Amino acid sequence: MTLLLRTNDGKESSSNDVFMDAVHLLNKGNIIAIKGVGGFHLACYARNEQVVEELRKRKKRKDKPFALMAKDIDAIKLLVYKDIIVATFGDMMRVKGTETSLERSGSKDRKPIIVYSPFDVIEIAKNNRDKMVVFLAVGFETTASAIASLVKHAEEKSINNINVMTSIRLMPPILEKVLQQHNGRLHGIICPGHVATIMGEEYFEFLPEKYRIASVISGFDAPDILGAIYLLVQSKCGSNEPELKNIYRKCVSINGNEKAKNLMEEVFKVDDGLWRGIGSVPDSALVLKEQYAKYDAVKNFNLSSWSEETSNACSCSDILMGKKEPKDCNLFGTICNPVNPYGPCMVSSEGACSIYYEYRR
Ligand code: SF4
Repeated sequence: MTLLLRTNDGKESSSNDVFMDAVHLLNKGNIIAIKGVGGFHLACYARNEQVVEELRKRKKRKDKPFALMAKDIDAIKLLVYKDIIVATFGDMMRVKGTETSLERSGSKDRKPIIVYSPFDVIEIAKNNRDKMVVFLAVGFETTASAIASLVKHAEEKSINNINVMTSIRLMPPILEKVLQQHNGRLHGIICPGHVATIMGEEYFEFLPEKYRIASVISGFDAPDILGAIYLLVQSKCGSNEPELKNIYRKCVSINGNEKAKNLMEEVFKVDDGLWRGIGSVPDSALVLKEQYAKYDAVKNFNLSSWSEETSNACSCSDILMGKKEPKDCNLFGTICNPVNPYGPCMVSSEGACSIYYEYRR
């Protein structure tokens, strides 16, 4: 059987994948006509109110129902929620996406809601039973257990109007990527104390063992960071074997928080993850397991995976990989600053460019 796709001026598409082309057209708000034995079947994206309105106008069906096409009844349920509430952590609001940031998107009364903990999402969902609450769940191992706990709670209490769009990343794979590319430029690693609090000291043992690089698990206070730098310099000056030191013992044990790790294990599985500006890193992301798929916004809303596209003007990837300093970026301090961040490293006060801006300018 041959499939053809024609544009509205009658031209035939030369693409090899007319199915995907049709999907793109639908996502972009087009109406497509699919020819069958009994005539034409018109289709549009049901979540796009404008195109549904246009189809109603063309078909002269002011309020007569259209048929919804979806893969199963759960997907249909999602489509009939009157509205969607987006909830996320404050840092995410200012991150610039392909077109704009969450902060600048949406109308005044439909702004995403900032949450301070994943558990705030439960309250939002309970207070808005007729709406679907989509939580943009970002973070590292630190927040993963709390997000896992949210999903489990929703399951146990049958709260069905919560979906989670996970963008949880894992530290070891990205550290390995950095270390594989550093060409001797790095002399030591300060390991994040919050990740180690959950995962334990043993989580970073691969650094001296596999990469023979001195490493220190540290907190985030100035004395902690200074202490970590001191130990790394001392290790570089001495002739001892590189080792992993832990100066954040008040929070970090050898094995970490077993309860949190078990929760993560129960709800998530490891998958390849896209890192903005860096690309795909194998086994660097946590995604929901099949048994929790009904909470997975990416699957339920048929969202395409994150785009690998990134602006060439932003040098975040090189900064993250240790190849450049923030001042080497042409946008630093001009187009990109903490009030109007252009790239992700300027968004949060913990970002490399933001810190550099605050203390070096
Ligand atoms: S200054 Fe801004 S644009 Fe430049 S690398 Fe940093 S975050 Fe990206």
